[in-house]
Amino acid sequence: MVSIPAELPAYLDQNADRFLSELKDLLRIPSVSTLPAHRPDMERAHAFLAEQMRAMGMENIQRLLPKERPQGEPLLYADWLHAPGAPTLLFYGHYDVQPPDPLSEWLTPPFEPTVRDGNLYARGASDDKGQVFAQVKAVQAWMQTSGRLPVNVKFLLEGEEEVGGEGVELYVRQHHDALACDCAVVSDTAFFAPGLPSLDVGLRGMVYAEIEVQGPSRDLHSGMYGGVAPNPFEALARIIVGLKSVEGKILIPGFYDHVQPPNAAELEAWKRLPFDENAYREQELGSAALTGEQQYSVLERTWARPTLEVHGMPGGFTGPGSKTVIPAHASAKISMRLVPDQRP
Ligand SMILES: [Zn+2]
Repeated sequence: MVSIPAELPAYLDQNADRFLSELKDLLRIPSVSTLPAHRPDMERAHAFLAEQMRAMGMENIQRLLPKERPQGEPLLYADWLHAPGAPTLLFYGHYDVQPPDPLSEWLTPPFEPTVRDGNLYARGASDDKGQVFAQVKAVQAWMQTSGRLPVNVKFLLEGEEEVGGEGVELYVRQHHDALACDCAVVSDTAFFAPGLPSLDVGLRGMVYAEIEVQGPSRDLHSGMYGGVAPNPFEALARIIVGLKSVEGKILIPGFYDHVQPPNAAELEAWKRLPFDENAYREQELGSAALTGEQQYSVLERTWARPTLEVHGMPGGFTGPGSKTVIPAHASAKISMRLVPDQRP
């Protein structure tokens, strides 16, 4: 059992203001990975974190780009491997952020970090720069107060999480030996509730698909052909309705065959979490009702049950005003969140 260095709590208190001010410096960098204009900012964010790694005594600090994606955003790797016989932790996080639009919804500018009511507001504060920084500072504080770490540590931070993460996927496939670890700690998650930190031990997987329906061979006018021309949206609507029952059961044959339910200890632990279904519905969802399989709790439905959702239906006419087209094509983008042992 490793015990926390005696000086560590005082060190954290004494340095809290400095840590916050450094985090604000990181948050001021608009590292928006999806917008090419922010390329230099991506490099700045990478360099900022590389400097943090260097200052805290991490080694083998590397700026990595898989050779198949030279145009991608660089990964940042660093390690400290001087605890022979102890486990190795791999910390993962990302330094890129989503675009801040719509700007009119922000009470304070997205890249000017502001503390309000004890919360820090800025783009990336909670996804994922804040979490990454907490891990960096935890390792740094331990290193500073005991001169070494109780475990071996590797960091792998990426700059493409918000745009698909292709670079990190390639890199992990090609370098699993270099990344070998006993435990991967992913920072890209949240507290369960204020004051209640959580360790997420699993996330659902996903299959993303597009259903394409072909109607007539070309777009037709409903005044001329309405009544006889097959409308692909109508077929699509029937297909989608047929995929899931009103009670939230997914109707694809065999879909639930291998679903592994959570074990009794997990269910028991989830029951102990502070969770108010009405507050969740009103404040987090802002909806009149909760849908889905009522025989499962909300936490089971969002953590342990597979899903099927429609995300968009491209096709036909969607501009302002009206146009009476019977479209040749229609499609639906759908995804299924998967749970252990499902075989997509
Ligand atoms: Zn994230």
